[in-house]
Amino acid sequence: MSTVIFENARCQLDEFEIIGITDRMTPFPSQLTANRLFPTVSAEEWTRIQQRYPQSFCAPNLLMGRVSCYLIRQPGRTILVDTGMGVTNNPATSDAIASGQLLAGLHHAGITPDAIDTIFLTHLHSDHVGGNVQHPTGERRPTFPNAQYIAPQVEWTTCEQLLATNPAAAVYVAEQIQPLREWGMLTLLDAETEIAPGVRAIQTPGHSPGHMSLWIKTSQGKNILIAGDAFYHPLQVTQPTHHFGADGDAERANTTRSQLLKRFAHQDLLLAACHFPEPGLGRVCEDQQERYWQPM
Ligand SMILES: [Zn+2]
Repeated sequence: MSTVIFENARCQLDEFEIIGITDRMTPFPSQLTANRLFPTVSAEEWTRIQQRYPQSFCAPNLLMGRVSCYLIRQPGRTILVDTGMGVTNNPATSDAIASGQLLAGLHHAGITPDAIDTIFLTHLHSDHVGGNVQHPTGERRPTFPNAQYIAPQVEWTTCEQLLATNPAAAVYVAEQIQPLREWGMLTLLDAETEIAPGVRAIQTPGHSPGHMSLWIKTSQGKNILIAGDAFYHPLQVTQPTHHFGADGDAERANTTRSQLLKRFAHQDLLLAACHFPEPGLGRVCEDQQERYWQPM
């Protein structure tokens, strides 16, 4: 299997280093046009969005599908947010485009899997948990053997329902999440929780029922938000009520985005999200016309 090395994005904010790792980058299928993915965006807005974020388009009206994970390093701690697509075992799809490149990206950043002490899973969709567990020669083992895996309780409850009602759709749960439960490696959160000094898991529901994001406050008062899929595209920084077609509860997702932008208004905010265009890390800025996302 071939490996693609994507350039990692890095940024140091006070005692925190954030590294954005591209797990996969491939165009959306042609039938999933940009205006099907974001049905409430007007033609005039699309023109401005394409000018502002050209890197997120692979053709007019066709978005680049990007999956990324984030590493948070602070003295004595290494936290990975989400584990991407994972390496597929299906020979039909096991190529560099279909398979997650997270491990190659970590290697490129000089980080070995056993150096990661915490895995935070924003939500339990297959493109965010695919790298949790490896199964070489059929035997399962955690990809990150020294890590405590943390996920929202509501997300796990939803997975249990899926396992019970639709096992065919829950194969990834059985392979990538359930073993962590059996090994006693999965901690579930049912409320806002400080998971490491200055790093809080906060509730950001809507894309999925129990979705959580990480809010980091540095010792100098700067804010970093690793938003998972609470924001899907930076166009939602300008207009948070443009829901993404795959938001489970569009109205709730819109409310979550609006509340987050209000919470951090007039503050320094570094915003990263798992499907944002390259480099995935950027600042929330505002000019006379609009609020927008400025890539680092
Ligand atoms: Zn996703």
